[in-house]
Amino acid sequence: MIEYEDELTQCLKHKVPILMINCDKQIKRNQRLLCSECMKNLESTVQLMSFQKVFDDIRETQKQKIEVVENEITISIKHIENIKKRLLVIIIQYNSIIRLINRKCR
Ligand SMILES: [Zn+2]
Repeated sequence: MIEYEDELTQCLKHKVPILMINCDKQIKRNQRLLCSECMKNLESTVQLMSFQKVFDDIRETQKQKIEVVENEITISIKHIENIKKRLLVIIIQYNSIIRLINRKCR
């Protein structure tokens, strides 16, 4: 995982932090991540995005998705606890019915 993070945040060719992302979708993914060295050889017509901004946006989106999933899990847990309480009531009622039947059938 750490190695993967390094791959994401460091230029594979120059081993320094990535600063910008090339918006050209025709080139390979790993060539779209640019460090200061990569940017020296870049044409001025290339459209760029800030790597940090994209990284922060992705992180924020992931955080929001996690919150949604956590909320759904919390709601599910409450439903399960509710079902458990109802089941307990049913078991208690069943047991008292069985006891009653046993008493009547003696
Ligand atoms: Zn580079």
